[in-house]
Formats: sequence, structure tokens, C-alpha cells
Amino acid sequence: MFLEGKTAIVTGSTSGIGLAYARAFAAKGAAVVINGFGEAAAIESLRAELAATSGAGALYDGADMTRPDEIAAMVDRTARALGSVDIVVNNAGIQHVARIEDFPSDKFEAIIDINLKSAWYVMRAAVPHMKAKGWGRIITTASAHSLVASPNKSAYVMAKHGVAGLTKTIALETAAAGITVNCISPGYVWTPLVEAQIPDTMASRGLTREQVIDDVLLAAQPTKAFVTPEQVAALALFLCRDEAASITGANLSVDGGWTAA
Ligand code: NAD
Repeated sequence: MFLEGKTAIVTGSTSGIGLAYARAFAAKGAAVVINGFGEAAAIESLRAELAATSGAGALYDGADMTRPDEIAAMVDRTARALGSVDIVVNNAGIQHVARIEDFPSDKFEAIIDINLKSAWYVMRAAVPHMKAKGWGRIITTASAHSLVASPNKSAYVMAKHGVAGLTKTIALETAAAGITVNCISPGYVWTPLVEAQIPDTMASRGLTREQVIDDVLLAAQPTKAFVTPEQVAALALFLCRDEAASITGANLSVDGGWTAA
């Protein structure tokens, strides 16, 4: 298994796409650190499942991605407990849908903290560990919204364009150190994050649930099908292979053709 001996931290992996990344890494033998919120017993059951799949251990770290001190501590704890920090995936993210004049400041700040700034803090803490080993993989879940915009998602689009720029910058800084830095930009993936924005989009655009799914979400996606978390995770796994060593600074779309239009 090609990730034996490697460790992977996936932020926001108690659910959705993050959990799919953690499962994919564990299935290839990596020791994984999962992170995010949820009910303690459910998280423990995921951790135990991942430890059994991996055979190399799985830890849960409850660091809050709005807290730089907790992010740095998570990376340090991982290095101490598992011996290295080889792969990090910046994946934690939230969404809020509202016109800018109605957008609450606390939601704006939380989206920028979790979807944008946390990736910078994770990278700052992880890069020295990767440089010490001469190998590393940094992956960020951006979004089709790192390339194009939609109305009523000002904070999210701002954050996702931001992580795309951060990816390019850190790719350049680490290019000669055996480290690759990329982002994956999914279109709509059916996860709790997408399900939760349906009521707000119904309210802000005056639509029914079915209209939001067909006319707003899947309208943008020429395949007319949701991307699956496993399809996103499969690309992340490829980025960790030696064959992907020349892919760095890239923004890789998995969006059913959305941004081709
Ligand atoms: P999700 O709601 O299923 O998962 C989000 C995860 O982030 C959860 O584990 C949650 O506990 C965690 N999280 C939230 N706030 C946190 C915090 N302060 N600290 C630590 N963890 C926190 O959502 P998802 O759809 O799987 O989204 C994952 C990523 O994929 C996000 O960055 C999102 O923007 C991106 N994305 C999603 C889609 C989609 O259609 N679902 C499309 C493009 C990009």
C-alpha cells in the first residue's frame, strides 16, 4: 500500500468530502488524523473504523479552524504522536447564502477564518515538517467557486479564490523541496454542506426545494449529476503518488464541466 509510513491530517473530516479523503488515505495504509465537529460517539466510531482500515493508526483532533493556536497545536501533536506530517488536506469549510446587504458579519468572519485563513495556518505549521523529510503533499479543497462566482455567496467565493492564490504561492515556495501544493475544485457534491444551503437559497431566490436542486445547483453542472465525495478523494490520492510529483500549483476541477462553460 503506497501510503504506508505516511501520515495525513484532513481538516473537517468528520463528514462529507473530508471523510472520503480520510477513508481513501487509510485504505492505502496512511495513519490519519481526522478533525471537525460532531457527536463524540459518532466521531470515535469513525476513528476506530479508520484505524482498522489503515493498520497504522488514526487519531481525532478537535482543533477549531477559527483558532490559529489550535491549528498549530494539531500539527505539532500529529508530528509528536505519529512521527511526521506528510500529507495535509485543508478541507474544513462552511457556507452562508445571502445578499451582501443582508450578510451577517459573524457569518462573513467565520467563512473567511475557516475556509481561507485556516489553510494558511495549516501550511505554515506543516511545511517545516515536510521540508525536514524532503517530501510532502498539501491539498486544499477549493471549489468551482475558486474560478467563477455565484450571487449571494460573497464570503465563500472570496475565500475560495483566496485559497487558489495561496496554493500557487506556496507551490512556488516549496517547489524545490519535494513538496507539491494543489487545490481540487469540485462542483456540487451532495454533502450536508450543500443540503444545508437549500433552505437559504429557497428564501433568497423565492424557489422551491426542487427548483433549487434542478435550476440552481445542477443548472451549473452540464453532467446534471452531483459529484461524489469518492471521486474527489480519488484525485487527492493520485496527487499523493510519486507519478504526481510534477503537479504543483494547480487548480484541478472536478465539476462535471461547470467551469468549462
Ligand atoms: P460538510 O459540512 O459535510 O463538512 C464540513 C466539515 O468541516 C465537517 O467535518 C465540519 O465539522 C468541519 N468544520 C466546520 N467548521 C469547522 C471548524 N471551525 N473547525 C474544524 N472543522 C470544522 O461539507 P463538505 O461539503 O464535505 O465540504 C468540505 C469542503 O469542500 C469545504 O471546504 C467546502 O467548501 C468544499 N466544497 C464542497 C462542495 C459541495 O458541493 N459539497 C463543493 C465544492 C467545495
